[in-house]
Amino acid sequence: MPNITACRICGSGKLHVFLRLGPTPLANSFIKPERIGDPEPSYPLDVCLCNECGLVQLNYVVPPEVMFKDYIYFSSTSATMRGHFAMLASEVLADFAGKGSLVVEIASNDGVLLRNMLGKDVRILGVEPATNIALKANESGVRTLNDFFNSGCARKIRASEGPAKVVIANNVLAHVPDLKDFVTGVSSLLADDGVFIAEFPYLADLYSHLEFDTIYHEHLSYFSLKPIIRLFGQSGMELFDVKKQAVHGGTLRIYAQKKGGPRKASSGKIGGMLDEEKRLGLYGNEAYDKFASDVGTLRAELLALLRGLKKGGKKIAIYGAPAKGNTLLNYCKIGADLVEYAVDRSPYKQNHYTPGTHIMVYGPEKLDESKVDYLLILAWNMADEIMAQQASFKQSGGKFILPVPRPRIA
Ligand code: ZN
Repeated sequence: MPNITACRICGSGKLHVFLRLGPTPLANSFIKPERIGDPEPSYPLDVCLCNECGLVQLNYVVPPEVMFKDYIYFSSTSATMRGHFAMLASEVLADFAGKGSLVVEIASNDGVLLRNMLGKDVRILGVEPATNIALKANESGVRTLNDFFNSGCARKIRASEGPAKVVIANNVLAHVPDLKDFVTGVSSLLADDGVFIAEFPYLADLYSHLEFDTIYHEHLSYFSLKPIIRLFGQSGMELFDVKKQAVHGGTLRIYAQKKGGPRKASSGKIGGMLDEEKRLGLYGNEAYDKFASDVGTLRAELLALLRGLKKGGKKIAIYGAPAKGNTLLNYCKIGADLVEYAVDRSPYKQNHYTPGTHIMVYGPEKLDESKVDYLLILAWNMADEIMAQQASFKQSGGKFILPVPRPRIA
């Protein structure tokens, strides 16, 4: 597939490419040991700003059927995310979903959110494109349709289930190639008094905290509030509330309804956030050019730190092998020459090599068998949880390295 020539929201061709992370394998394409010699596909990872609507987006799109067929991120493996979704489920039940109403979650993963609504007098339906994950969800009692959500899928659901009182889409908007069709689908599935709730990583946090590693092929769009409002407006919907969340390094949760719906918009809150985005410079090229230059500095500092430690005889391992870690490892070219191994709690990553950089991933017990002096935390959004779990490592003299926004030892 070629580079995009038109913005995913407004169709403008005024796209400013500001960051080139280079040819990169897919962030979740961990390699089985027996496949390590096989050719490894990699794709451009370049980011641009639309000068018309302010959407930051990748300008090269890997076909979704390549990316999401066997997606291996299982939400339930993280205690932080389980707690976060349990709270959202309580809010939905208390404020938005009436008795017997239909709640649909798009990209429902293994049912980590919907599970909290089992036995609560609402009808739940998950929609999950990854076959292996949809199967797990159904086995655990969360009714799940194995499909990509789009306007056609929305029509099918509406025909068989009726209108939805609540539609939820967490951490999926960024993955959607055809945003207009997606929002059209949401709008057609919603009841007239229905509510759409979506969470996505917030561009203001990505920008302010130099979270460049959250850029990978699966994330096609990086949203500030302004282009989101335009996107929903184009499909006859309006935002009525917005809340910042701490998860994933800074997440925005939006609440939308059909235009003229029953809920009053908190325009002061939304206006204040737009002012803040403007103050940060999120709609102009200058801020992003500086961002790109800061990313280059981060790479130089992190490599200097790791090489210095290695030279001094220290051993370094990686804690957590999240998708974003692979952006960082590939861009910085950190491989088995600098670190001993990686550990991750997900059994789906263990006994695999990291894509591109070929570092072996083990379970956390490896840390007891093969001692290291430093742990580079790539899942930095889980740093508190990880450092608490690894308290004994710290007590025995071990240290942590946090790479973002500037490399530091903790
Ligand atoms: Zn645009």
